[in-house]
Amino acid sequence: MVDIKEVAENILLIDNELYSIPKWGSVYLINEEKKALVDTGPTTSVNTVLAGMEKAGVDPGEIDYVIATHIHLDHAGGIGELLKHMPQAKVLVHEKGARHLVNPERLMKSFASTMGERMMRKTGPVAPIDEKRVVPVSGGEVFKLGEKQSLRLLHTPGHAPHQLCILESRNNGLFSGDAVGISVAEGKVLIPATPPPAFDLELYLSSLQKLMELNASLIYFAHFGVTGKVKESIKIAADKLKAWNTLVSQTFNESGFEAAFTKIRAQLYAELEPARESESLYQYLADGIVAMNITGFLKYFQDKRKAD
Ligand SMILES: [Zn+2]
Repeated sequence: MVDIKEVAENILLIDNELYSIPKWGSVYLINEEKKALVDTGPTTSVNTVLAGMEKAGVDPGEIDYVIATHIHLDHAGGIGELLKHMPQAKVLVHEKGARHLVNPERLMKSFASTMGERMMRKTGPVAPIDEKRVVPVSGGEVFKLGEKQSLRLLHTPGHAPHQLCILESRNNGLFSGDAVGISVAEGKVLIPATPPPAFDLELYLSSLQKLMELNASLIYFAHFGVTGKVKESIKIAADKLKAWNTLVSQTFNESGFEAAFTKIRAQLYAELEPARESESLYQYLADGIVAMNITGFLKYFQDKRKAD
């Protein structure tokens, strides 16, 4: 039975049961005169999202906007399939990602090579989106959904070059995608998400600074759920990125790449420990997210050393 919850006024969280794991993937339905979805999850979550909307009493035909916080498949892979149920909907996506949703072959290849064939099967095929339905944005745009609700889009690169955040005016809440990182186990674990191929430490930190200055009242995490501890969360993310960078730099300089790899892995396992209360989530984090974070972080680190 799909889990839905009103997390702020006119904002509904649908647990899209991402990869069959509870409390891992959030889809947000903004229910105003005009209606919007923030992220969808992959194609394998589409039926759950539709069931969530039905439970909320919202007809998919009424959706005006589907917003991709970024084009990674665990956020946007299902949009093409979902649009078949949403004849009115336009897709808002950063201009750097737009063409990959229209022609998803490269996106699927990149995902399969980073995450593996097994994850690709769990994600499902990616249906292309008709170019006419895509609205490329660059940040700064405002979309009015009703008397009291406007969405302001912000470009917040770092996790990915096409990462957007969305500030909604009714509750002063921020849809953070993966820009602040992932927050799981009821907020007991918060770690930045640093995947290959395009994680960028400096951009991530400057985006976090920009988000800090918004003085938002809530963060709606894509992974997972809502917090009122906005500044604390942003600070934790920034502090962790800096600490990981120090750890990797020192270890690399003293003992080389292998040692840096081992050190950062041990650090990540330690930070994920409180997530053990949910077996399936912990397994996924320990197997998938740790490897993804290390690969992305070390790739950035090595590319930067080459460039310096
Ligand atoms: Zn994600």
